[in-house]
Amino acid sequence: MAKHILVTGGVSSSLGKGITAASLGRLLTARGHRVLMQKLDPYVNVDPGTMNPLEHGEVFVTEDGGETDLDLGHYERFIDENLHRASSVTTGQIYSTVIAKERRGDYLGKTVQVIPHVTDEIKARILLLGEDADVVITEVGGTVGDIEGLPFLEAIRQLRYDVGREHICYVHCALVPFIAPTGELKTKPAQHSVRELRSIGIQPDALVCRSDRALDAELKRKIAMMSDVDLDGVVSAHDASSLYAVPLLLRDEGLDDFVVRRLGLDPAVQPDLAEWERLVARAIEPRDSVDIAVVGKYTDLPDAYLSVVEALGHAGVHHGVEVRVRWVPADELVSPSEARRVLQDVDGTLVPGGFGARGIEGKVSAARVAREQLIPYLGICLGLQVAVVEFARHVLGLAEAHSSEVAPDTPEPVVDLMPDQYDVADMGGTMRLGTYPCKLVEGTRAQAAYGEAVVYERHRHRWEVANRYRARLEGAGMRIAGVSPDDRLVEMIELATHPWFVTCQFHPEFRSRPTRPQPLFRDFVGAAAQRMRERSGRLPETPLEVDQTASTLTG
Ligand code: GLN
Repeated sequence: MAKHILVTGGVSSSLGKGITAASLGRLLTARGHRVLMQKLDPYVNVDPGTMNPLEHGEVFVTEDGGETDLDLGHYERFIDENLHRASSVTTGQIYSTVIAKERRGDYLGKTVQVIPHVTDEIKARILLLGEDADVVITEVGGTVGDIEGLPFLEAIRQLRYDVGREHICYVHCALVPFIAPTGELKTKPAQHSVRELRSIGIQPDALVCRSDRALDAELKRKIAMMSDVDLDGVVSAHDASSLYAVPLLLRDEGLDDFVVRRLGLDPAVQPDLAEWERLVARAIEPRDSVDIAVVGKYTDLPDAYLSVVEALGHAGVHHGVEVRVRWVPADELVSPSEARRVLQDVDGTLVPGGFGARGIEGKVSAARVAREQLIPYLGICLGLQVAVVEFARHVLGLAEAHSSEVAPDTPEPVVDLMPDQYDVADMGGTMRLGTYPCKLVEGTRAQAAYGEAVVYERHRHRWEVANRYRARLEGAGMRIAGVSPDDRLVEMIELATHPWFVTCQFHPEFRSRPTRPQPLFRDFVGAAAQRMRERSGRLPETPLEVDQTASTLTG
């Protein structure tokens, strides 16, 4: 029987509830438990795939093609486990299922209600994960008191009766703000939030207090007393130097000890965090820094590219450099000369995934500057497509070359719809989604990075390099470095005579892990660091030692 940890949040959003949940996950995996994690999102969309990134941040893609909340990315990176679409549950999915069952007659004429039908469906989704895990950590999105969150909170309340009190642990994250004029941390908001939770019938077992500084023993005692939580269940989660320091901080606060005792897991086993500690030590003391331009549409909201930023960070830790991301709004690169001015002195340029026309010419220019000025370039999905458009225009001389996504009537659609996407009308979940194999070509940088013949990476796109231009692109110096096993689809393209210009139709950022940087990101940042050193005459760091037995990213 799996143990269940239910994480809720109060007072305010953006408290780092996802990081808290993921950190607890890491502490439990480090004790040898098989942990699976799940996010319950109260919004009515079926998944975030159709949402504007400015609303929701990045869409994280799972191996099986689920378009999910970005917190799943944190979970995967912290617990080092590939999660599936079942780990992402929304009100939209729950109601779709309940309504489909009602139409089929599954409820045998009963009145279908939030309690029990909707709550039963939510519980079924939580219990499903328990079939494959020792511990399931379920995070409820939103804050306690939100109207749309009520069915989820009711479901996790009932879960206690279904699985038994001894198998369940409620962890509540609440804000403990510092009020500058009086110089004090204030506990009232946290108390109110616990009261709100108790009014729904949930008594938290542990209270994670988010604040900008550590809570002292006196304050913890006060919160414990007012909230009826055991003193050792009140932990301070103050701002940390790095995201990856949070598991260590929560361990020092004793959160995992408390949870393990509460759930009747073996308290004698201590977490093995040696590799994680090396990672954190290295992450907070990097020596040199590299400047990487990320040219995108949503540069005001870095969360829209969260996994890209994380993957760059992992690669930076590997090479012992700090990666400084320079956010470049694509639509500000209004001309090739402006692009050159903005981009010519960065150490590397990355064009991430994207959709639609806005900023597209700026991205094309960014690829051009990188190609002409020999600046390391990593193009992801749309970043591959703009590199192909740029090359077709300026090297092949096809001045009107474009992607038919942006210019449906272009006479030279070097990037075109995949045949099976022509008739798709629904916008949700209809792309080429999830993991596909990619066959790598010997002697390419891609192959050198991966060191494998076939790799498996996650996709999310509709357009593709048009096959009828393949020979011409290759003839002029683009090297097709990866293809689908049936050779029908171009998956990777690079430039043969460039220090490091590698592009991929998939999203490598989703597979990067803190102690195992994704190979393309690793070599991209390596090439950027080399450029930085050539320009500044500095010596390289020794790469971080990692456990090589776990270093394969394929299969
Ligand atoms: N818009 C492009 C396509 O659908 C690229 C998608 C992406 O970058 N994820 O093919």
